[in-house]
Amino acid sequence: MLSDRGHDNLWARTAREADPFSPLASDISADVAIIGAGFTGLSTALHLAERGLKAVVLEAQAIGHGGSGRNVGLVNAGMWVKPDDLIQTQGQEWGQRLISALGDGPKLVFDLVERFDIACEPERNGTLHLAVGDSGLADLRDREAQWQALGAPVKLLDAGTAARLTGTHAFRGALHDARAGTIQPLAYARGLARAAAAAGTRIFTHTPATKVARTGGHWQVETPGGTARAPWLVVATNAYTDPAQPGLLAAPQQELTILPFFQFATRPLPGELADRILPERHGCWDTRLIMTSFRRDRENRLIFGSVGSLESWSVAAQKSFARRSLRQLFPVLGEVEFEARWHGQIGMNKSHLPRFHVFGEQAIGVCGFNGRGIAPGTVFGKQMAGLICGAGEMALPATPVENASFASLRTWSYRLGSCAVHLISGYGSRS
Ligand SMILES: Cc1cc2nc3c(=O)[nH]c(=O)nc-3n(C[C@H](O)[C@H](O)[C@H](O)COP(=O)(O)OP(=O)(O)OC[C@H]3O[C@@H](n4cnc5c(N)ncnc54)[C@H](O)[C@@H]3O)c2cc1C
Repeated sequence: MLSDRGHDNLWARTAREADPFSPLASDISADVAIIGAGFTGLSTALHLAERGLKAVVLEAQAIGHGGSGRNVGLVNAGMWVKPDDLIQTQGQEWGQRLISALGDGPKLVFDLVERFDIACEPERNGTLHLAVGDSGLADLRDREAQWQALGAPVKLLDAGTAARLTGTHAFRGALHDARAGTIQPLAYARGLARAAAAAGTRIFTHTPATKVARTGGHWQVETPGGTARAPWLVVATNAYTDPAQPGLLAAPQQELTILPFFQFATRPLPGELADRILPERHGCWDTRLIMTSFRRDRENRLIFGSVGSLESWSVAAQKSFARRSLRQLFPVLGEVEFEARWHGQIGMNKSHLPRFHVFGEQAIGVCGFNGRGIAPGTVFGKQMAGLICGAGEMALPATPVENASFASLRTWSYRLGSCAVHLISGYGSRS
């Protein structure tokens, strides 16, 4: 687990939704016990409550402590894997199901935000996938053709339009996806928790599940303050699964390789700069292998992210890379000062697609969002609730938990490799 020492997560500072929950301090029964209060666990709880089932959510730390409270906030439609590749690898039926469930994912997120009045800075104006060099442009052309063949509102913008919408001439074009947008992710997670609690879910924070066992047709989930008992169990711990936990509590970790990703936020930009940099507030990421992202928050801070961790030995290199990159992308910025920095763990797997697991009798979970978990976590949470109620199907087949080969070696190579690349490069010097 990456340490958060010296970090200041912007989302925690600016979230307008509260986290009023406290630890479990007695034994409790429910219809479903959910471990983990990120998008996946909270969406499951909310949709169960809407169908009349009571869930108890057990969270080891705070709401959104995992990826859900640390991410970029890009509410994407679909995964990294292109639609045609999805059909090829998953087959026609599962591929189509997944494409359509995830294509509608942003709609589900923005509908929930509106329905529950979640104060999470929603911007529903599409995202921009930015083309770096000829190969980046070719990749985006291919994505445009595949999505358009499916009728999706995805359009490749020329370099001039990309420059106007981003405020930089660094890109050969941009793929605009009108289904997508941005949110303040921690506020969204807290808003889901508020809505789920109002609908009857009991939520306990600072309540780590330390042991699970099935006895007498029920799951018993032990925590330091009491035991939760329920016929169904949902494990929603994804990349924040603690590998030291016993049994199925550690299972999701087995097949994940952890990719670290950091972000820096500037001070709020003055009005004249905000008019020039991302004037329409699009969320952006690029086509590079070591991907970078940038977006603005509601107060016009520019938030820049890339692959890597912010640890005592890497923070200076990553900070200097972020500064250099922002100066190269947006020379009008001048000297860049950061007021927040944080990192998080992305759970990657071999297929680059989320995987649905049946861990035991009436024990399920989805993990491996591969850096695309806002809409997919919300979608699969809703689908798991439907499955538990016997009123719906998953868009993913149930698969056995795989073993990620050389996972910790690869995680270390991401940590060290990104730092080495960022140490010697800026935004303009590689493609
Ligand atoms: C830096 C970063 C940037 C990203 N950017 C984007 C983006 O722009 N767009 C996008 O769609 N996705 C993005 N992602 C991915 C997305 O954030 C995740 O896929 C998503 O948050 C996963 O949600 P989750 O609910 O499954 O898991 P998490 O949000 O990780 O929640 C798991 C929770 O389980 C808890 N937990 C673990 N073990 C236990 C236990 N034993 N008992 C109780 N609780 C436990 C953890 O404390 C944690 O709160 C990004 C991720 C990161 C880290």
